[in-house]
Amino acid sequence: MTPALEDILAVARGAARAASIVCLGVLEEAPATPEAMAKLGKEPVTVADYGSQAVILQAVASSFPEHGVIAEEGAAHFSAHAAAAGAEQMVRLVGRALGRAVTLDQVLGWIDHRGGTGPYTWVIDPIDGTKGFLRREQFAVAVGLLYEGEPVAGVLACPHLPLDLSDAASPRGLLFWGERGLGAFAEGLEGGPARPVTASGVDAAGEVRVLGSVESAHGDPALVQAVIERAGLGGGWVRLDSQVKYGAVASGMAEVYLRPRSRPDYRDCVWDHAAGTAIVEAAGGRVSDLDGRPLDFSLGARLEANRGVLVSNGRVHGLVLEALAAAGR
Ligand code: AMP
Ligand code: MG
Repeated sequence: MTPALEDILAVARGAARAASIVCLGVLEEAPATPEAMAKLGKEPVTVADYGSQAVILQAVASSFPEHGVIAEEGAAHFSAHAAAAGAEQMVRLVGRALGRAVTLDQVLGWIDHRGGTGPYTWVIDPIDGTKGFLRREQFAVAVGLLYEGEPVAGVLACPHLPLDLSDAASPRGLLFWGERGLGAFAEGLEGGPARPVTASGVDAAGEVRVLGSVESAHGDPALVQAVIERAGLGGGWVRLDSQVKYGAVASGMAEVYLRPRSRPDYRDCVWDHAAGTAIVEAAGGRVSDLDGRPLDFSLGARLEANRGVLVSNGRVHGLVLEALAAAGR
């Protein structure tokens, strides 16, 4: 019997919660400065990235072994770069998150689980925004679900997102999730009731709040600024790491997330957009490339067919596309 999407999402929510426990555990045990935190190899990837992916894929392997998987990390890279202390920490924190003792071989096996060829594919970024994570700022555990190549559901655990974006001192930790046809929801990462969320009703350019990456190299800040000026977007421009930006648009904290391609040869990874796209669309928002076409998640690990990404509450999407066209993009 094919499981209902709700049942799959329940497993995904539990997995994303458990994965955030691993991530927060690594931060708790880490030195205070990002420079001192162990990075494995050249890329900014930590023990937490691998532990988080292991926890999520343990859940996929045991509940839905027939589902396909696209995930960012691989065990070979971990084994090549991690010292014994890193392996010990990963095994210990994964075991704690799962509530039972596990071995290094089991954890490495989960990291590399890639499943079957059923119509569902899990698209996983175990820590989206690793640079934000290292700075102890924003990051997300992102779990998207494709059905025959289309994003139909997603979960975003955002352990550092303040419940009120305009008040950095407000309590932190949100879990966003959404399903096509059902809607989008937010709940405290620590538990509590899920509340429906919807994209904002703002349609006046002067009120539009814009989100972008903290890392200038991940986008084209000059183009974002040009679009803001041309379209007269007057609500401010906030820079945040990771797919928490999608959660913010889905829940009405902002109207636009604009991510122009950083370089002509760069193609965004599907795991940076799958979960967020499903949630924003379920919340009544819109996601497209800079030409207004839907993102094509069916071409493997990269969005090969799209240049740049525009996420909005839907109402102001056309306005921003026009400004992009006028800016010559
Ligand atoms: P953000 O925190 O929104 O800036 O996005 C983080 C993601 O940017 C990471 O998960 C990477 O996959 C992705 N990334 C890394 N290098 C680039 C690049 N040159 N252009 C665009 N995205 C990138
Ligand atoms: Mg990422």
